[in-house]
Amino acid sequence: MCRHLAWLGRPRTLAELVLEPPSSLLVQSYAPRRQRYGTVNADGWGVGVFTPGRAQPARWRSARPLWGDPSFASVAPVLSSGCVVAAVRSATVGMPLEESAVAPFTDGRWLLSHNGRVDRAVLPPVRDAESTVDSALLAALVFDRGLDALADTVREVATADPGARLNLLAADGTRLLATTWGDTLSALVTADGTALASEPWDDDPRWTDVPDRSLVEVTPDGLTTTSLS
Ligand code: GLN
Repeated sequence: MCRHLAWLGRPRTLAELVLEPPSSLLVQSYAPRRQRYGTVNADGWGVGVFTPGRAQPARWRSARPLWGDPSFASVAPVLSSGCVVAAVRSATVGMPLEESAVAPFTDGRWLLSHNGRVDRAVLPPVRDAESTVDSALLAALVFDRGLDALADTVREVATADPGARLNLLAADGTRLLATTWGDTLSALVTADGTALASEPWDDDPRWTDVPDRSLVEVTPDGLTTTSLS
């Protein structure tokens, strides 16, 4: 399984969000603390950011391990954003190993990461998937149905594939949406903003665990969690 995170709040550097915390996404790429499936996340990494005055997110993805990317480590301290989605990948067996298979995916407006797996055969046909990886097909379906239908889309896919794991994390620059369905997710609400992450990036006691089968919405006004079952 992969590990992902999102931030909505005061602009923070990508180094602060992804590289510097004691159990950062960088550390989670080789030593995750709560990962149930897989041991390392060495099959790529991606970061997507929103910037003021530009509706489209900007992305930087790679098929290499995050720890093997010194150029990103060099620029991350000077890249800031108030809305970020980042992920490190452990490819599901049989899935393509390529940059376009790495989250976050985008439709030009939303960023979306998938932590999990789904049987591609049960997914309705979709156009414009970025890759043949299950997560890209799922992302294209979610974009097609619209993010306001995220809960219904997750329930529909889970019914079609009861073995699916469907932890999704999405952002559009003004809000975050996340689901838990089969894996971990934690939330950190602070005066500066809110983080969602597959696992806490430090031992701050304010991190809370999101129950399985939940829909989480984060806006500048706060965080709400509703049950998906
Ligand atoms: N199934 C996706 C992939 O192969 C995500 C894997 C994961 O969550 N580890 O990339």
